[in-house]
Amino acid sequence: MKSDFSTWLNDIIDRAKILDIRYPIKGTYVWYPYGHKLRARILKRIRTLLDDSGHDEALFPLLIPEDEFMKEAIHVKGFEEEVYWVTHGGLTELNVKLAIRPTSETAIYPMFALWIRSHADLPLRVYQIVNTFRYETKATRPLIRLREITTFKEAHTAHSTYEDAEKQVQTAIEIYKEFFDGLGIPYVVSKRPEWDKFPGADYTMAFDTVLPDGRTLQIGTVHNLGSTFARTFDIMFENPAGEQEYAYQTCYGISDRVVASILAVHGDDKGLSLMPDVAPFQCVVVPILFKGKEEIVREAVSDAVSHLEGVRVHVDTSESTPGSKFHKWEMKGVPLRVEIGPRDAASNSAVLVRRDCGEKKTVKLSELKQEVKTVLDSITGDMKKSAAKEFRLWFSDAESLDDAQAALKEKGGIIRTVWCGEKSCGLEIEEVLGATLLGTNGEKPEGNCVNCSGEGKEVLLIAKSY
Ligand SMILES: [Zn+2]
Repeated sequence: MKSDFSTWLNDIIDRAKILDIRYPIKGTYVWYPYGHKLRARILKRIRTLLDDSGHDEALFPLLIPEDEFMKEAIHVKGFEEEVYWVTHGGLTELNVKLAIRPTSETAIYPMFALWIRSHADLPLRVYQIVNTFRYETKATRPLIRLREITTFKEAHTAHSTYEDAEKQVQTAIEIYKEFFDGLGIPYVVSKRPEWDKFPGADYTMAFDTVLPDGRTLQIGTVHNLGSTFARTFDIMFENPAGEQEYAYQTCYGISDRVVASILAVHGDDKGLSLMPDVAPFQCVVVPILFKGKEEIVREAVSDAVSHLEGVRVHVDTSESTPGSKFHKWEMKGVPLRVEIGPRDAASNSAVLVRRDCGEKKTVKLSELKQEVKTVLDSITGDMKKSAAKEFRLWFSDAESLDDAQAALKEKGGIIRTVWCGEKSCGLEIEEVLGATLLGTNGEKPEGNCVNCSGEGKEVLLIAKSY
């Protein structure tokens, strides 16, 4: 799969029934029920993390009036080439065009201006999980570059001081760390360079992972918006001294790319390999029927299932051969297979086979529940460890641009080097390497700038990115 990751991903999305890519609008895809179950499990995790940390889920309209959308000039500039517009209601041309949200700042913040009156209303933390639309002009790709982003989780907060907003940025980073750690997706967090921050933000922190082809994928962002949007949308509160002040804001988001990274990071040549917590089925039971011994096997299977309460189990009773069932469920990434044949049935036992490493184990049906739980936990731990181990191999240190170029060419991944922090120098590095500056990681550098030999001020991360 590493040699041709792009083909692998498109192929597995189709074969494992994650997305149907035949929908007749470029850049929009259909979630199959199996893919949708996976998506729902992932969303459950992020909802829990946000709900447990003082956020409330809300839901804002898809349409944004042109006058609101156009208010924040820098923001508009950042999105102007990507916005879909609704110009007609039936046959009537609308007086005010309506933007289909590419993101929701301009839908949410006029309402924040109405909701926030006093310091007692702050902090305010809401999130929504919605679809957004962007007219992508680059080549579209399922889960990675979409015209309809189907799974946009955006959180928006307002605070009474800049320090509080700053703390919220840190909290959001911690929430995302816990989220990605739980999914076994390794990442690096960096501060995006000035020219690559969210349009209208003070600064942007970003999470990137590395896909099997050595290119990085941005999987989450956290923005400190300062009071820019508050000033544009008049989000003011009365402080304890009775004076009116502008609020300080943050926003942070993740998207369908989380699903892409789950498929890519854990998958292999056999197909998907899903973490037990998000797998639609944690366990597939495959009866191995022999002529004349069907009944004893069926009884053992139903006994096994009765022991597996609380585990998401699928029993494959289809007409296919056991071999093709093994193959199918491995490809679909089910973490654990339970095989029961006549000999197993006769001894009240079953064979457990792990998807991640192929390890087999025979267990008594009476101990099945405990054994399955233990094995699922080991799978979770081992998958996280192996993903983290592989991720470390993607990093290279470069002392010169030639080093950086060679590492990018040889294996891709993330180059760590030293930078003076100057924009003109950063843009030159991007140009020479044909790569992207992911950003700075906050570490103190040793030595001079890799490009201009000026004083080294930042440790810089560089990659070829999606
Ligand atoms: Zn420099």
